[in-house]
Amino acid sequence: MHAISVDEHELRTELVKEFCELVQVDSEPYEEADLGKVVEDKLLELGFEVERDGAGKKIGGNSGNLIARLPEARCSDEPPILLCAHLDRVPPGKGVKPRLDGDRIVSSGDTVLGADDAAGLVAILWGMRMARRVQPLLPPLEVVITVCEEKGLQGSRHLEYSKLRSKTGFVFDAARPVGVVITGAPTHIKFDVDVIGRAAHAGINPEDGVSAIRTAASAITRVPFGWVDDATTANIGMVTGGEAMNIVCERVHLVGEVRSHDDRIAKEVLEQIEDCFTEESVRSGARTKFEASTLYKSYHVEENSRAVQLLGCALDKIGRKMTLELSNGGTDANQFNANGIESVGLGIGFEQAHSTRESIAVEELVKAAKLAACLILRM
Ligand SMILES: [Zn+2]
Repeated sequence: MHAISVDEHELRTELVKEFCELVQVDSEPYEEADLGKVVEDKLLELGFEVERDGAGKKIGGNSGNLIARLPEARCSDEPPILLCAHLDRVPPGKGVKPRLDGDRIVSSGDTVLGADDAAGLVAILWGMRMARRVQPLLPPLEVVITVCEEKGLQGSRHLEYSKLRSKTGFVFDAARPVGVVITGAPTHIKFDVDVIGRAAHAGINPEDGVSAIRTAASAITRVPFGWVDDATTANIGMVTGGEAMNIVCERVHLVGEVRSHDDRIAKEVLEQIEDCFTEESVRSGARTKFEASTLYKSYHVEENSRAVQLLGCALDKIGRKMTLELSNGGTDANQFNANGIESVGLGIGFEQAHSTRESIAVEELVKAAKLAACLILRM
């Protein structure tokens, strides 16, 4: 980065310090208030106006999303951009003890590290600090720090979108190297099935029973499973039911999911699954209750979009090649796109997320922060 003069050694030291500070504040889903306060104070110190929306109350958490904007940008005609990261981390995420292992930051091995998504928080905060050193009056910028991302994107689902002006967004939250841009992610549908048969004594009068287990099993062997096509997956991940060895099983509950980059195909596959359960229930004399809910909808951002163009320039400045990829997991970008903010996910370099082996190379943290600075400056 030419126009941004930073002492590399100082930057690395400060980034690691702030990263370690943030991951040491507990912040599991629904319990993000403490970390929210720390980040809010830092945003205020950087000159942002910050408000907390009402999402926390709606989802039963102790904090809403943070919405921050730069007051100085109000009178500018240039369209704002939105930068996003999330506060929550998956369990075991309490009592994180980060340490440097060579050029990587790791946890002590009994918790996650929380680089997902503290790396995103630190990148945005340091991007802002570096940008300020170059240009005191910055182009319009909105920052959204969400809660409960790890619980089906609930924070961004309940975000008060009327408070935002941005039509272009960047979500700092992908487990890929800096340079990877996630331009598409699937629709994700969760389904619950109850198969209800009839109980009877398994040894005396089994002929009076209708086995929910057997009915469910017949359906399970027929439903689409694994890769349905190259952009669609289906899974049944949980089966529970039954009372005892000697009772013809009356009830089975199943939980599964469908993902597809094509929203229409996701719905078709879901219908096929429901049909299998309905048909097998009719055959056996059981009943089926089928419920589905769409956690988030697919998006696809074009190569000639403003988001990808801004990234092309910014990544060039920090010496990273841009790689466009699709992801099969959802992020807050799914919700932003569904609400009219064309958004992409950004690789920020954390690895083995959602495990106690999670780590991040300091170099990736540095690049992610510089990328944020370039986007803020529209370099
Ligand atoms: Zn994340």
